[in-house]
Amino acid sequence: VIIIVLISVISAYAWVTLATNDSYGLGALVLGHSLRQSGTPHQLVVLVTPGVTHSMRETLKSVFNEVREVNIVDSKDEANLKLLSRPELGVTFTKLHCWRLTQFQKCVFLDADTMVLENADELFEREELSAAPDVGWPDCFNSGVFVYVPSNDTYESLINFALTKGSFDGGDQGLLNLYFSDWAYKDINKHLPFIYNMCSTACYSYLPAFKQFGSNVKIVHFIAQTKPWLQIFDPETRQVRPSPDLVHLTSLLQRWWNIFCSAIHPQLSTEMVRVVYS
Ligand code: UDP
Ligand code: MN
Repeated sequence: VIIIVLISVISAYAWVTLATNDSYGLGALVLGHSLRQSGTPHQLVVLVTPGVTHSMRETLKSVFNEVREVNIVDSKDEANLKLLSRPELGVTFTKLHCWRLTQFQKCVFLDADTMVLENADELFEREELSAAPDVGWPDCFNSGVFVYVPSNDTYESLINFALTKGSFDGGDQGLLNLYFSDWAYKDINKHLPFIYNMCSTACYSYLPAFKQFGSNVKIVHFIAQTKPWLQIFDPETRQVRPSPDLVHLTSLLQRWWNIFCSAIHPQLSTEMVRVVYS
């Protein structure tokens, strides 16, 4: 007797991002599509706050397995109650909610202003907390891409740490670098190669390196003013027109807009399209 057992395995790993408004929602949509194009078998989760419109959430559902609302004010747990007395920390620490996705064994958090150029599933072989150096201060990691292990204990501990010690830059990166403070020297395996979080400003701060190694990049991170949705885009020619200082970034920005035009734009409501092109 041959017994064939069909087990449908749902991945215990997830890619996680965050959007608190529809602009970053667009970033998340392109990121989500870039992940699908990379052929990853893992789950896609986007954390959203009440600032994300209903129509954007519906569009996000077409590419993400889970659209999870996180709302510090509505939450009942103790860590969040402590945060209630410090509402100014809300936006900064929304990212910390990613630690509460405890249905997954391991996750990779990606900022909504990142884009995956090539399959990067090997990131799930890394341990918490793995991240790439920050371009401004390389003894700190950049918190736009990091490997972590969901845990309610870690979440509580991070919130308590935030309330007592704070963040030296007012954002999640300053907080996470203080919390995972041995990252700089303890374990080189927790240093992700820069190709997993190529900060876009490197293309002008170290152009020769970008020319030499740029083709190896697996994940690009459009930090600060280089966000693709902030560039001038011509809907007639479908070409992006970045400012002169970002000219070396043109092909990567164009790649973002190509995904936007082919996969996202046809799904958007006319109202949303008006917002994008305004
Ligand atoms: N973010 C958001 N809404 C905001 C600001 C930030 O959803 O108004 C999220 C989004 O995922 C974003 C991340 O937080 O990618 C970090 O912010 P950002 O990427 O703008 O910082 P940068 O990488 O430029 O320092
Ligand atoms: Mn970012």
